[in-house]
Amino acid sequence: MRKVIFLDRDGTINIEKSYLHKWEDFEFEINVIEGLKALKSLGYEFIVVTNQSGIARGYYTEEDLKTLNSEMVKKLNEYDIDILECYYCPHHPEKGLEEYKKSCDCRKPNPGMLLEGIKKYNIDVKNSFMIGDKKSDLEAGKNAGLKSILILTGYGKKVEKEVESEYLIAQDLLDVYKLIK
Ligand SMILES: [Zn+2]
Repeated sequence: MRKVIFLDRDGTINIEKSYLHKWEDFEFEINVIEGLKALKSLGYEFIVVTNQSGIARGYYTEEDLKTLNSEMVKKLNEYDIDILECYYCPHHPEKGLEEYKKSCDCRKPNPGMLLEGIKKYNIDVKNSFMIGDKKSDLEAGKNAGLKSILILTGYGKKVEKEVESEYLIAQDLLDVYKLIK
């Protein structure tokens, strides 16, 4: 079975910018490359799980998102970091375009994307993690049976107090490595 770290994208891998959808605006968060390399050395693989309601809201298209994600994966590959898969939820329960307006099971905190990855890649749930900067990331991980870690980049500092009694907390992805090694 594979050990996987599920990663939120915005605020965890890249600097949170409202409804980011252009590669030229993409910037890696602090210690992402170093952290992922270190985690890889422990035998972890990586899957990205990201809520992208900007698609439902009509701010950008699924094609825009796929282009951005593939550029990100290509850049990580240059550092010898592989991403097994990038899952995204394009939906929103109330807002936006009719085809995307629904209560889905993929929008975090629902665990749909994580469960799909766990099944497809035969993942060892007990030894895998979900990392994100929002409470919905932590809850999605918990709902999928994973251990969740709050990261203090992105919105992390805003929710730290609220979640610190229940979840582990790390400054950045390199700190995640120090926490779980
Ligand atoms: Zn969804």
